[in-house]
Amino acid sequence: MKFDNLKLHPFLLKAVKDEGYINPTKIQEKAIPHILNKKDILGSAQTGTGKTAAFALPILHHMIVDKNKPSFKRINVLVVTPTRELAIQIGENFTTYSKYTDINNTVIFGGVKQIKQTDKLKKGIDILIATPGRLLDLMSQGYISLKDISYFVLDEADRMLDMGFINDIKKIIDKLPRQRQSLFFSATMPNNILKLSNSILNYPEKVSVHQTSATAETIDQLIYYTNKSDKRALLTDILKNKVLSQVLIFSRTKHGADRLVKNLKKKKITAVAIHGDKSQPQRQRALKSFKNKEVRVLVATDIAARGIDIDKLNFVINFDMPNEPETYVHRIGRCGRAGEKGQSISICEPEENIYAKDIEKLIKASLTEIKNHKFPQTDLPMNPQQRKEFEKQKQKKKQDFFANRKKNKRTK
Ligand code: AMP
Repeated sequence: MKFDNLKLHPFLLKAVKDEGYINPTKIQEKAIPHILNKKDILGSAQTGTGKTAAFALPILHHMIVDKNKPSFKRINVLVVTPTRELAIQIGENFTTYSKYTDINNTVIFGGVKQIKQTDKLKKGIDILIATPGRLLDLMSQGYISLKDISYFVLDEADRMLDMGFINDIKKIIDKLPRQRQSLFFSATMPNNILKLSNSILNYPEKVSVHQTSATAETIDQLIYYTNKSDKRALLTDILKNKVLSQVLIFSRTKHGADRLVKNLKKKKITAVAIHGDKSQPQRQRALKSFKNKEVRVLVATDIAARGIDIDKLNFVINFDMPNEPETYVHRIGRCGRAGEKGQSISICEPEENIYAKDIEKLIKASLTEIKNHKFPQTDLPMNPQQRKEFEKQKQKKKQDFFANRKKNKRTK
């Protein structure tokens, strides 16, 4: 199917063409006709599938052709999304797709001063993209009213719940007009998400894109089995291959990410980290330097990486294997986006062998094992008794750490 068959307004088709899109992605092909028909959507898809255009284009279409839309520059569309990076990206996409119209948007999120955001709101906007906390904050201060919302998008609902935003979401929904079109997207659809969607949607059309098969088609998935103590040396060795010119590396923890960056820099490999302990300007700077190719490696934690959209990213490395197989699918979905070819490289220590098995079960395929490398796995995973003891010690260490921190704070 071609974009031209989707009955979108010519202004939008022109903008899409400028971006070099020729064919709609699966989610776009499935969702756009329903949204143009004014149906609510329950969409099972994640970032990387072309989901943003799937909702942004038909919404913009309605706004262009709707003669009865509320008076100029009252917020007509609300998109709520969990992270600042995702919010910024969605805003950029709306700007790109609406460039031949007079429709404008703004993005609001926490962690920065509100003045710039409130200035833009005061001037009047059509589309608001927001993270939940700052949205409620500015609503309570009277800068934002939701009474003119005709289109509501809840993006990455599962991540929203993971991040503890459920009550915020409920408060926001309470303030929305009953007459509206609602689009609900989530990568996974467990029961609590379906329950939430029931409270928002009206006879929705269900649209789903299975990322698992999509990843298998476009991403080469390699795995190195090694020992814990050899992981860094193995990573450095892998990065000797200059074909890996831009790499996103996943680390399970923030500390781990920082340590890895330090280590890579020692080896003269340019790297920056992006995670929850970094301030918003730091994160933006890190992302920019990676996008501009000033640094070769971006080390990210899972939450920070959500919503990072880097054109033509070809390589993802899992320095730690994720213990939830769905996270693996999210991670490797960062490369090989929208039909691009990608390669994921997982570095697996003995304790993580079990995670690799879970991943293979979920994706219904085997990861391609790289054999005969310099740092083969020789250590054995712990037996259940050893693991229990290990977990106990780890828990104790964590408790001690927090107890100490509390004590230090009190004595300061
Ligand atoms: P998203 O899932 O919305 O984060 O989109 C992922 C990436 O795919 C973004 O960089 C989009 O610009 C790009 N994209 C979206 N739709 C298409 C399309 N139909 N053809 C090519 N690239 C696309």
